[in-house]
Amino acid sequence: VSSDGNKKISRVRVAVRLRPYLDKEDEKGEGPCVRGLDKQNLEIVNWRNATETVKYHFDAFHGEKTTQQEVFLSSVKPVLSHVLNGQNASVFAYGPTGAGKTHTMLGSAEKPGVIPRAVREVFNLVHAKDAEEGWDYSISMSYLEIYNEKVLDLLSPSSQDLPIRQDKDKNIFIPGLTNVTISSFSDFDTHFVPASLNRTTASTKMNQRSSRSHAILLIKVVRTSRVLPHRQQTGKLYLVDLAGSEDNRRTGNQGIRLKESGAINLSLFTLSKDSLGGSAHSVMITNIAPEYKYYFDTFSALNFAAKSKMI
Ligand code: ADP
Ligand code: MG
Repeated sequence: VSSDGNKKISRVRVAVRLRPYLDKEDEKGEGPCVRGLDKQNLEIVNWRNATETVKYHFDAFHGEKTTQQEVFLSSVKPVLSHVLNGQNASVFAYGPTGAGKTHTMLGSAEKPGVIPRAVREVFNLVHAKDAEEGWDYSISMSYLEIYNEKVLDLLSPSSQDLPIRQDKDKNIFIPGLTNVTISSFSDFDTHFVPASLNRTTASTKMNQRSSRSHAILLIKVVRTSRVLPHRQQTGKLYLVDLAGSEDNRRTGNQGIRLKESGAINLSLFTLSKDSLGGSAHSVMITNIAPEYKYYFDTFSALNFAAKSKMI
C-alpha cells in the first residue's frame, strides 16, 4: 500500500500457486503445459505454436513443491497484523475447479492450509499485544456460502437466503448472519469444523455445488481502548475459497449454470467493495493445474490474475 497524501492507493498482491502434476488427471500422458521459471515467473505453452511459450510475471510464484507453510509465510502472514490495527485484509483463492483452492485455504489435518494457520496467527498476535498495549481485543467469526446470489449461513444452516445489504458508507453487511465470539484457536475449531461439514454435505447433495459457490470465512477483530472505552476499532479478515473460475460457456454448462456464473461475478463484486480497495490489504492466490486438460482454464485464470494486479 502506497500513501499519496490522504488518499491510500491499495494494491492487490497477486500470487500464483501451481499444484503438483496428478497422473490420474492426465489420461493422455501429455505431460505438464505450465512450468515455473523462478519465484515470480512462469510460462505456459502457446496453444498456437507448441514450440513457444507465453510468460507471466507475478508478485509471487509458488511452484509445485511449495509447502503450505511457505505459502502462508510468504503470501498471507504479512497482511495479518493490519487486522489488529482496525484495517481490513483478505485472502482469495481463485482458479479452476481441481486446481487446489480448497487445498490452499483449508488443507488437511496433515497439511493444514491458510485458514487454520491464519486464525492461529491472529490469536498469537492478539496475545502478544495484550501484554504490551492499551487495548482489549475481542475476536469473532462468521462463515457463509454464497451460491447463486443467495447467502447460506454455515454457522446456522437453517437460516438460508439471507439478504446482502449496503449501509450509507457503502459497507457490506448481511443482516441476521451469525457472528460468534471465539476466545482461542480450539474455540474457533469447535465452530469451524462442523460448519465446514455443512458445506461438504450440501455440495454432494447439490451436485458439485461447491465448485459454483464462494465460501467466506470472516474473522472480526474489535479492539477497545482501555483508557477511552468508547474508542473502538474493527478490523476484518476475509478468507475466501472462490467458486471455480472455469468458463461455463466453454464447458457446455448452459442455462442455469450460465446464470450462476453471472451471479458468481456479481456477488464477487459486492464482496470486493468491502474487502478490496480503500485501506484493505488483499492477496489473491491463483491456483493452477499443470495438466493439458486444464489448459484454457489455466490460460484465462492467468490472464485474469495478471489484470487484477491493479484494482
Ligand atoms: P479446488 O478446490 O480448486 O477444486 P482442490 O483443492 O480440491 O481443488 O484440489 C484438487 C486435488 O488436488 C485434491 O485431490 C487435492 O488434494 C490435490 N492438490 C491440490 N493442491 C495440491 C498440492 N499443492 N499438493 C498436493 N496435492 C494437491
Ligand atoms: Mg474446492
